[in-house]
Amino acid sequence: MQPRQPRTRMWARWGLDPAAGLIDGVYVEIMDGRYARIEACRKPPADVPEECRWPKGFLTPGLLNAHTHLDYSWLHGAMPRGVRFVEWLAGMALACRALDDESMRRAREACADAVEQALSCGTTEIWDVSTLNLARPMLESDRMRAISYAEIIAPTRARWEAEGRARLTQSKLASYISRPGGSCALGISPHTAYTVIPEALEACAHWANRRGVPLAIHLAETEDENELLINGNGELFDMIQELGAGELADELGIGESPIERARRAGALTPNCLAIHCNRPRPGEARVLAQSEVAVVFCPLGNAWFGRPDYPLEEYRQAGVRLALGTDSLASNDQLDIRLEAAEVARRYKIDDPLWLLGLATGAGLGNIPPLRRPRRAATQPPRPMGRLVQRRNPKTPDRRKNGSMLAQRINNLREVERELILVQNSSPKRRI
Ligand SMILES: [Zn+2]
Repeated sequence: MQPRQPRTRMWARWGLDPAAGLIDGVYVEIMDGRYARIEACRKPPADVPEECRWPKGFLTPGLLNAHTHLDYSWLHGAMPRGVRFVEWLAGMALACRALDDESMRRAREACADAVEQALSCGTTEIWDVSTLNLARPMLESDRMRAISYAEIIAPTRARWEAEGRARLTQSKLASYISRPGGSCALGISPHTAYTVIPEALEACAHWANRRGVPLAIHLAETEDENELLINGNGELFDMIQELGAGELADELGIGESPIERARRAGALTPNCLAIHCNRPRPGEARVLAQSEVAVVFCPLGNAWFGRPDYPLEEYRQAGVRLALGTDSLASNDQLDIRLEAAEVARRYKIDDPLWLLGLATGAGLGNIPPLRRPRRAATQPPRPMGRLVQRRNPKTPDRRKNGSMLAQRINNLREVERELILVQNSSPKRRI
């Protein structure tokens, strides 16, 4: 029998319930590693110890980093900023080819450091694309939840037959799938619509959909990608062709946008994480919304490349499910979702802290499985951390209304499946 864990009681001045919104005072009781009570409570109950009261604190579900490549953390500071995407991509390919045993050891250390950095910034869930297989063992920790997507690259039929198919049926992948409830779920990631031939993309989608396995794919990251796939030319086309991917136009077929290819392959489902979608074609925001795909964007990664504005308003109007990611440390300085949310607030002049928190916590994705899996049994008490949000003039919440909504929604908070984090409110001047 497991030893019983002590009961923890805590109270914070503000709380965030994904359904009820901002709560004026929140009391949380954790017993045996589970939430026993979560209630609106304007004043701290007498039995809450002094060190567990945060009169300026804000309690919220932990943050979700919905897109990163932890395996590339060793490239931190090594890649140029503000260059064309093709130039950056060529640099990545070169660096990866030069990996030897010694650099793999350093890469593993960098990966471990990056995980620690993400955790220290309030991230409690990471959706990671795995290429070198460095991060996966680290994501199996019980300190966080994760999805680890095995990357599949198949720009030619020959490569798909030689490697891609086998990757789908790896025994490790199969054993993960048959072991539900683990803190790290496994998914697959056909890399992009220009590095995976249509036949392979369709097979991946079919395979994932039949098993309910999460699938992630980079889509429409740049205008060059549209150019490559619709017109069969452009810088990216030339570069991929030079990398020796056979007769690219023949392998990929030409004439359809990346998002349209993914849709036709059956990949755009609620199981799917569409990464970036920076450059949708006319009407494609509606396609993304109607398919209920989750779209993750990376504001500071886009700033790194000096890209045009994200079609945020278009997506919000269309009702696209949105989440935030950092992408890798090869195109970002930090893996900190708070900074990504701050960049969204600044660049797109979003003055809606609750919407931003929904974006940063994953609450904005709704309860569509498997991206919203049942929460694991155990949780940790929240850790104090830096400021995320400051409401300058918080509306006085209607206590009765919040109380009854909260009573109805306690299960919602449980279903949020993420650990709670505490955000200290120190400056009265700033929002995000
Ligand atoms: Zn990426």
